[in-house]
Amino acid sequence: MAYLALSQATVVVPAGSDYCLRKSVFKTNNLSFHDKLWGPVSALDLKTKNGRPRDQRILCMSVQQASVPKVAVSPLELENANEPPLNLYKPKGPYTATVLSVERLVGPKAPGETCHIVIDHGGNVPYWEGQSYGVIPPGENPKKPGKPHNVRLYSIASTRYGDTFDGKTASLCVRRAVYYDPETGKEDPSKNGVCSNFLCDSKPGDKVLITGPSGKIMLLPEDNPNATHIMIATGTGIAPYRGYLRRMFMESVPTYKFGGLAWLFLGVANSDSLLYDEEFTKYLKDHPDNFRYDLALSREQKNKSGGKMYVQDKIEEYSDEIFKLLDGGAHIYFCGLKGMMPGIQETLKRVAEKKGEKWEEKLSQLKKNKQWHVEVY
Ligand code: FAD
Repeated sequence: MAYLALSQATVVVPAGSDYCLRKSVFKTNNLSFHDKLWGPVSALDLKTKNGRPRDQRILCMSVQQASVPKVAVSPLELENANEPPLNLYKPKGPYTATVLSVERLVGPKAPGETCHIVIDHGGNVPYWEGQSYGVIPPGENPKKPGKPHNVRLYSIASTRYGDTFDGKTASLCVRRAVYYDPETGKEDPSKNGVCSNFLCDSKPGDKVLITGPSGKIMLLPEDNPNATHIMIATGTGIAPYRGYLRRMFMESVPTYKFGGLAWLFLGVANSDSLLYDEEFTKYLKDHPDNFRYDLALSREQKNKSGGKMYVQDKIEEYSDEIFKLLDGGAHIYFCGLKGMMPGIQETLKRVAEKKGEKWEEKLSQLKKNKQWHVEVY
């Protein structure tokens, strides 16, 4: 399967076979589609003849098609800068962006809700893969009456071209912060997270104040097109990697060709909590020599001691290979909840010691070589 970018183009889809347009199923027989379109659809015109569907004309930003390898992107000058854009908009002068879409990413059995939110910045707040936006939720800061809320940071989950491939949008992967009273176990909405709930509840057309872009830690390193990238995520920590992987495997950029190895470890609670799994499974199918994808489903899988399976257990399982790759110059990235790091560090230390290596020395070497990238919150 490959992709075709059709910026505001019309696709004529003859009646006859199946593909999915967002949540609706349509029929076609000469285009081979994955199971949904990946860009927003701006218009849909179903042509009928004799009362029966004949053509389905879809005016859309992108569709997947069998014969073209990757999505062509524009504008290509987004490749020209030598330095990433930084803090173009600050908390005192944020940019007013518009929400384009909000989509629940997880299934009904996932504990909690995570949403994919596409924001239109009109090309005014460019960013690079791995950077974050700040969001200022509406309302008053409870700790500073009369002042706005503090900025909350969100890793950007799209490439610089955005999910619409035109350099005008950014996508966020946001988990709704819900507060449960520790005594009663009941939700207390008065203590729910302000910004994550604002974003997950927002509707297309709503305005959102953004700052940034910020962050250099998770930028893809300069040697990245041919490097090995070991990416460890828990939950929404997947966001920057989704951007990396779309750049590596989905988009066609004449000056960027990925020939290295990307190895993703994702830890979530159960299979309903998987994030962007369709995209990753597809890369695995299309680029088996360049992509590896391993999951740790804590509530569904057991580790070798019979306990819950966490990302560090997967790291341990593959530790020989991981250590070899690190010795060969691989980059290793960690993104997600702060709580993931102690368990991972302990595992890496234990593995290093088993191999007769000193973890502290190895870690400081990795940091010195700029192979070690951590963004946890
Ligand atoms: P807040 O209103 O800030 O509340 C924080 C927590 O406190 C919530 O869990 C809330 O329920 C609880 N709380 C509120 N009031 C009380 C009270 N009275 N008593 C007890 N508890 C209370 N998050 C993502 O979802 N996706 C990302 O990609 C992402 N990327 C990030 C990148 C970076 C670099 C950083 C630093 C953070 C990132 N975050 C991300 C986290 C994000 O910035 C926010 O911290 C998160 O969304 C919670 O913000 P909030 O406004 O919803 O919650």
